[in-house]
Amino acid sequence: MTSLNRDKRSDGKSLLPHYKHSGPFSRLDIVLLVLLLLAASGAAAYVYADRPAGERAEIYIEGELVGSYPLDEERTIAYDCGITVHILSGAVAVAESDCPDQLCVHMGYISKAGERIICAPNKFVVVIRGKTEYDAVTGRSQT
Ligand SMILES: [Zn+2]
Repeated sequence: MTSLNRDKRSDGKSLLPHYKHSGPFSRLDIVLLVLLLLAASGAAAYVYADRPAGERAEIYIEGELVGSYPLDEERTIAYDCGITVHILSGAVAVAESDCPDQLCVHMGYISKAGERIICAPNKFVVVIRGKTEYDAVTGRSQT
């Protein structure tokens, strides 16, 4: 799946220089089309990919990385924002949260690379990273 995505991306880019644009709107159309194709392939990959098991959980608060933990060691981490994260046998969950909707808690445990739990009220995100350093959601390689 990873190599398939990379092929699609390079094909899309190689098409652009050959495109003869007659006006700004046509060019914009092509750009939008390419973006839509990329989004569609990304969405398909997100839904259908048999994603590898995750290696570690990264915790972001207000967009800042505040922690990265291996998934194979059980631990409970409480954050000041009112969220408690629980890591257990290859999976991670938001065990407790003080947010009104409790959507993050209801997500339960996630274990696959690329999966994430988002708590919008607390600006809190848990992302699972895997061995394949490729993010199907953004289409960018991870370091
Ligand atoms: Zn929440």
